[in-house]
Amino acid sequence: MHINTENPGMDVERLLFTEEQIAKRVAELGAQLTKDYAGKRPVVVCILRGASFFFVDLCRQMKLDVEIDFIDVSSYGSGTQSSGVIRMVKDLDTDIEGRDVLLVEDIVDSGLTLKHLRQLLGTRSPASIRVCCLLNKQAAHPVELNCEYNGFEIGNEFVVGYGLDYAEHYRNLPYIGVLKPEVYAD
Ligand code: 5GP
Repeated sequence: MHINTENPGMDVERLLFTEEQIAKRVAELGAQLTKDYAGKRPVVVCILRGASFFFVDLCRQMKLDVEIDFIDVSSYGSGTQSSGVIRMVKDLDTDIEGRDVLLVEDIVDSGLTLKHLRQLLGTRSPASIRVCCLLNKQAAHPVELNCEYNGFEIGNEFVVGYGLDYAEHYRNLPYIGVLKPEVYAD
């Protein structure tokens, strides 16, 4: 790994979405969610840690009385691929029985993380479960499950920034971009 810890932004080869583009799309999603959940009090769940930046920005754009909670599941391994084996690190504190749950995810790749979470939370008898993801790679890997709300479709490439990491670096870049290949090199 060759990470420029002095100036992590220098490791980004290509900018995908600027701060302004992200803010605009998040505002659109928030407006849609405000309409769709009108008259309800959803439990908006942040899937830690990657969704955290998106989550707080999205909640601010939902002009509703929402409750928030956090869940942390980790996929074994710290590389650039989800292993499909998922471990619960932190469960919800809220009882979601009869509640409308909105899961907020950073990025959907294989869809395995969300499939697992939907199954698990579905056993707790919520009124509904929907998913809002910022980035979706599913055009590259179609699976039977999809998100109800999607920020941007992207290609099959590894992205960082706005909450997304590589080996716990780059999360606080305010934009989303693709890393230079030499960053991964041994
Ligand atoms: P899935 O279970 O859908 O294959 O993978 C979802 C998880 O893998 C995401 O929540 C994220 O943590 C990680 N992931 C997938 N693609 C990327 C990517 O391009 N960049 C980063 N930083 N994480 C990714």
